[in-house]
Amino acid sequence: MSQSHSIRFALDIKDKNITFGENNCAEQLIKGKQSKVFYGKLTYHPKRCANCGMENEEYSIIKHGYKTSRLTLNSTTHYPTYLELKKQRFYCKACETTFIAETREVNRSCFIVNAVKQSIAVESQDKISMKDLAKRHFVSPVTVTRIIEQFANSFRISFQSLPEHLSFDEFKSVKSVTGKLSFIYADSEKHSIIGILPDRRLSCLKEHFQRYSLKVRSKVKTIVIDMNTPYFSLIHALFPKAQIIIDRFHLVQLISRSLNKTRITSMNQYNTSKPEDKKKYRKLKHYWKLLLKDSTKLDYQKYEYHRLFKGYKSETEVIDYLISLDSTLQDTYQFYQDLLYAIHQNDFEAFIARLNAPPVQLSHYMKTSSKTLKKYTPAIHNTFIYAFSNGPLEGINNKIKVIKRIAFGFRSFTSFRNRILLSCNTQIKNEGLKKLTS
Ligand SMILES: [Zn+2]
Repeated sequence: MSQSHSIRFALDIKDKNITFGENNCAEQLIKGKQSKVFYGKLTYHPKRCANCGMENEEYSIIKHGYKTSRLTLNSTTHYPTYLELKKQRFYCKACETTFIAETREVNRSCFIVNAVKQSIAVESQDKISMKDLAKRHFVSPVTVTRIIEQFANSFRISFQSLPEHLSFDEFKSVKSVTGKLSFIYADSEKHSIIGILPDRRLSCLKEHFQRYSLKVRSKVKTIVIDMNTPYFSLIHALFPKAQIIIDRFHLVQLISRSLNKTRITSMNQYNTSKPEDKKKYRKLKHYWKLLLKDSTKLDYQKYEYHRLFKGYKSETEVIDYLISLDSTLQDTYQFYQDLLYAIHQNDFEAFIARLNAPPVQLSHYMKTSSKTLKKYTPAIHNTFIYAFSNGPLEGINNKIKVIKRIAFGFRSFTSFRNRILLSCNTQIKNEGLKKLTS
């Protein structure tokens, strides 16, 4: 193994035109920091002139001195690491101009090698702040922002097309954004983010979606939304052919929240000084999860010791006891379980039938939810027809929360958005990597 090869191997340099001679490294103080500097040379036999394109025949292009530049490398030993590269200058006799040797390790007139940019882009998907990212790579935070921006630019919205199936959602954004919530929309089938907008207010969304032609918008067949979001009128106005689908997860969430509130109301009835009441209170408090659980999945065979009952009970026995404490809770529980069963069985008729025949003692929380469900019946029908859900967007939303918590430095919405796009869109990310380093 030659010396050049070993050093290229150690520094992860692929270009064999870069060679290293005898005294090829030293420690040096750069920008006030003890750094490692490698001295290399870049030269080759150019096939043609970079300026006039004339082929290099019979020494029409000759070597003409060097130009040295100091390039930032990925640090291998936690020291800032640089490559002082002597790039060959060539002289073309045909056009009487000079040009500098190029390498795929670094873009023209750039002083950070592509491997560093790639590393920053890849690590920006992890839970790390911009400042730490800059520190780790011995570049300025501004450079980090710029590199991430370059990546994000590769997935600008084209406004030329839209997928047939869309999902809309919103998330809590950064402080600088006027609206409290930002808007995100994605392809329901491919699960890739199409766009993130700072403001979810209807006027802003309208302006954004009108940048797509009506022809493009008319191709959208379904849009999944959350019931609580105000997008109905927007969708009717801008997507004439689209069916609205209420997200399945939110459907379940709505009724389970109502049941939970009902449980809390009955629980608080027993929050008295009487010891007997206190016991009931504790049980209603402790088994909240079990009440929300799909009753068809409750265990009726396995007996486990329950501290609050001071004895062995199966899950179904626990539930039977809890709902026997309060008739409103009992009716509401049954209603909830019937709706849940219909959702899981994908049985729309049963769902609507149950909704239209509520039990006598339904809690007012569940009554309100029931009203909401009736109001959105056509959209809920679509939930039972189509398999699309906002699940992927929910996953993205969780990721956004993590990014926000870790990378607290997001004063600007744009860099926040870029970071989200980078960490969530794998396919686009790879294209971005290619573009950035080609
Ligand atoms: Zn030339």
